[in-house]
Amino acid sequence: MLKYLQKTFALLLTVVLLSTLLMACDTVTTAESETATASSTAAYSSLPVAYTDKELSASPAKLPPLPYDNTALSKAIDAETMKLHHDAHHAAYVNNLNDALKNFQNLQKRSVESLLRDLNSVPEDIRTKVRNNGGGHLNHTMFWQIMSPEGGGEPTGELAQEINTTFGSFDQFKQQFNQAGASRFGSGWVWLVRNPQGQLQITTTANQDNPIMEGSYPIMGNDVWEHAYYLRYRNRRGEYLNNWWNVVNWPEINKRSQLSLKQS
Ligand code: MN
Repeated sequence: MLKYLQKTFALLLTVVLLSTLLMACDTVTTAESETATASSTAAYSSLPVAYTDKELSASPAKLPPLPYDNTALSKAIDAETMKLHHDAHHAAYVNNLNDALKNFQNLQKRSVESLLRDLNSVPEDIRTKVRNNGGGHLNHTMFWQIMSPEGGGEPTGELAQEINTTFGSFDQFKQQFNQAGASRFGSGWVWLVRNPQGQLQITTTANQDNPIMEGSYPIMGNDVWEHAYYLRYRNRRGEYLNNWWNVVNWPEINKRSQLSLKQS
């Protein structure tokens, strides 16, 4: 009887060991295929982020004019906030970026996108300044374009379908985006990105970080720094996030999504 029990135990042990071994092999296979997916979508590395047709120049960086009047987005954002946000905050990112790069002619020749994608190639003593101010310049340049006085409503075309497939419905997408934006602690951004696997995903970043720093392509993003909403909404970030949908420029966002699909 004892021998029988010993044999059974030995058999069980073998089965357990074999399954563990098989599971380990499986994990290795999964890890390899994930690496393969990530490297095959490194194609985002050649996509412009600031605009759909050109990268953002750093020789020198220039403040782009607002594509509309300060009062134009009043369905969501008051004129004074627009003026301060563009003329003071965005302008400061531009000036500080130029200041950081002033002694680095080789870096000035590169685009802001390229600097942010490869921050390790930026000397350590100016790296944080380039990250914060290059990111600020890039994020805001995109931000002004993805809003419009004629904005609002719902997306159409391929992006609308993809949003429905990924998030269930447009309303569920909005809800998740607002929730993510409300939960971002402190200053930062909430994004709809195309991730390295080519799928739509809602993410947030701290400070002025941009999703390209993690290999994702930013299709749209909302600024949740207090400077973006505090004059009108005070501490009610949720209300700002809700109202913001009234000025969202879907044709421009659709263009950005199409661009990311071409190279995903
Ligand atoms: Mn801002």
